[in-house]
Amino acid sequence: MERAYDAIVVGSGFGGGIAACRLAEQGLSVCVLERGRRFGPGDYPDRLAQFPHALWHARRNPGGMFDVRIMRDVAVVTGAGVGGGSLVYANVQLRAPDEIFDDPAWPAAIDGRELDRFYARTEEALDPRTTPRTPLLPKVTAFETMARAAGREPLPLPIAVHFGPDRHHPFSGVFQQGCDNLGRCDVGCPRMSKNTIDITYIARAETLGAEVYPLHEVHDIHPPGRDGDPWRVGFRDLQYKTKGEVGAPLLVLAAGTVGTTRLLLENRRRLPRLSRALGSRYSGNGDALALALNPTADGVKGARTEFGPVMTSRIEELAERGLMIGDGGLPRSFDDVLEVLRGVRLLTGLGRIRVGMKNVASNLGLSDRALAPADMRVKRRTPIGDSLIFLCIGRDAADGEMRLTPVFRQFDIRFDRARSAALFDRMRETVTELCRAAGATAFFALDAGPLGNYITVHPLGGCPMSDDPATGVVDDAGKVHGYDGLYVLDGAIVPTAIGVNPSKTIAALAERGVEKLLEERGRAAGR
Ligand SMILES: Cc1cc2nc3c(=O)[nH]c(=O)nc-3n(C[C@H](O)[C@H](O)[C@H](O)COP(=O)(O)OP(=O)(O)OC[C@H]3O[C@@H](n4cnc5c(N)ncnc54)[C@H](O)[C@@H]3O)c2cc1C
Ligand code: SF4
Repeated sequence: MERAYDAIVVGSGFGGGIAACRLAEQGLSVCVLERGRRFGPGDYPDRLAQFPHALWHARRNPGGMFDVRIMRDVAVVTGAGVGGGSLVYANVQLRAPDEIFDDPAWPAAIDGRELDRFYARTEEALDPRTTPRTPLLPKVTAFETMARAAGREPLPLPIAVHFGPDRHHPFSGVFQQGCDNLGRCDVGCPRMSKNTIDITYIARAETLGAEVYPLHEVHDIHPPGRDGDPWRVGFRDLQYKTKGEVGAPLLVLAAGTVGTTRLLLENRRRLPRLSRALGSRYSGNGDALALALNPTADGVKGARTEFGPVMTSRIEELAERGLMIGDGGLPRSFDDVLEVLRGVRLLTGLGRIRVGMKNVASNLGLSDRALAPADMRVKRRTPIGDSLIFLCIGRDAADGEMRLTPVFRQFDIRFDRARSAALFDRMRETVTELCRAAGATAFFALDAGPLGNYITVHPLGGCPMSDDPATGVVDDAGKVHGYDGLYVLDGAIVPTAIGVNPSKTIAALAERGVEKLLEERGRAAGR
C-alpha cells in the first residue's frame, strides 16, 4: 500500500464500489479499505452447521460475511466483505416511489426526475431482470395464487441476477454462470449469477488501477491540519493484527449506515464542525419478516421456497397502506434460521447464555453485541417445510437515533416502535389477509422471538442529507457540511424510509454524488 492516494474509499458495498469505480475511471489513484474478506464462488456456507462461521466479528471471525448486531431497541443485519451487502442481499432493484421525495427531509434538488438518469446508470452494472417464466417456479405460482385470492395483483420483482448462458459480465468482464435456482442468494451465490458489487463496480475499478484492501477496518479519521494537507485514515489489518495509516485529499466514507455513522460518532471530537444532526433519522425501512405457516389452499401448498431466486414477486400497497410485501426463500438446509425469529429455542447451551449476557451488557451501555460464531450454536428442529416467507417493507417514522452510550461510548440505536405502530398494524393486517387466502397460519416476527424487537436488513440514516447543515450532515451530493474533501456515499445519507428495498436508491444517490464531486474537482482544477 502507498502512503498517499488521490482518494480513499472506506467500504466496498453499493456506495463504496460505485465511488471507487467512477473515480478510477477518471484516472484517480484510489485505495479501498474494506473490513471484510474477499469471497469467491466456493467460499459460501452451504449448510446450517457452517452458519455460525458466517458471522463477522472483528477479533473472533473477520472472515465472516454477516454482521449481526443486537441492540436494545433494534437488531441490524448487514454484510461484510468485498461487495458489502450485495454479497448477501436478495438482489431486488426497485426505484423509490416518486412521492418519497415529497418529504421535506429530502434536499430540494433530489426527486424522482432528478434521479432517473442515475437509476438508469446503475443498471449498466447491476442489470436487473424479472425471473423468467420458464421454468415456472412453484414459489412464484404459490405467491401469485395467494395474492389474487386475497384480492391483490402480484407483480414480478426486478432482480440483479444473470439468467441464461454463462458469460463474461459486460460491465466488468468477470466470468459468471447463469442462475440455476439454488435459492442461496442470501448466503452467497456459488455460481456468481448475482450481479454483485464485487464482480461489477469493484472488478472494473481494479481493472482501472484501484487498489482494494480486504480485512482492513478503519477506525480513525484525521482532518487536514492545514490547507493542502491530506485527510488521514487509521486502520487495523484484521488478518495480521497490525495498524496502519494512509492519506488522500479526498475521503469517501461508504461503510454503510451503521459503519459510517459509527465512524463519524467515534471521531466527532476531531471533526467539531460536524452537524448536530449526526446520528439522527435512523430508519429500519419498516422491515418485518412474516411467515405463512403450512398453507393448505390449492395452488399455494407445495411452494418450495428453496427453489428459485430468493425474491421473485411482490404486492404493493404503497399508496394505500405505505408498504410492500415480497416473497422470500432459503435453502432447505438453512430454514432453521427462521425459527430463531419464531422464538424457537434454537440458540442452545452456552450460546444462549452468552446472548443473554450480551443483552444485559447492552442495556447497561457496555456493548453493542456483534454476534460471534460461538454465540450461535444452533441445532435442527422442525423444518418450516413449504411455508411461505414474506419480507414486509414500509415507511416507518425514520425517527430513530444512532449514538454512543454515555460513559462506555458503545454504539447504540434508539428506536421507539410505538411511533411507527400504525404502519406495523397495517402490515400485520395485510399478512393476516394473505395467510387467510393461503389457508395458512400467520406469523409476524415483530411479535415474537429473541431478535424480534425490530430486526432490519435495511438500515438507513444517521448522516442524513439536507440543504441545511442544522438538520443534515451532508448536502444533496453527499458532501459533508463544513468539510472540504469529505463525502458520505452510502445508506447513511438517506433521510427517510424508502418503503421499498433501498439499494437501488443508495446506488443512484452514490452515482449522482460522485458525478457532482468530479464536477467540483474539475471546476477547482480550472480555477
Ligand atoms: C440478508 C439481506 C438481504 C437484503 N436484500 C436486499 C434486496 O433484495 N434489495 C435491496 O435493495 N437491499 C437489500 N438488502 C440491503 C442492502 O444490502 C443494503 O441496503 C446495501 O448493501 C447498503 O449499501 P451501502 O453502500 O450503504 O453499504 P454496504 O453494502 O453495507 O457496504 C458497506 C461496506 O463497508 C464495510 N465496512 C463497514 N465498516 C467499515 C470500517 N470501519 N472499515 C472498513 N470497512 C467497513 C462493510 O464490511 C461493507 O462491506 C439486504 C440486506 C441483507 C443483509
Ligand atoms: S437462485 Fe441460486 S444460482 Fe440463482 S442467483 Fe440465487 S444463489 Fe445464485
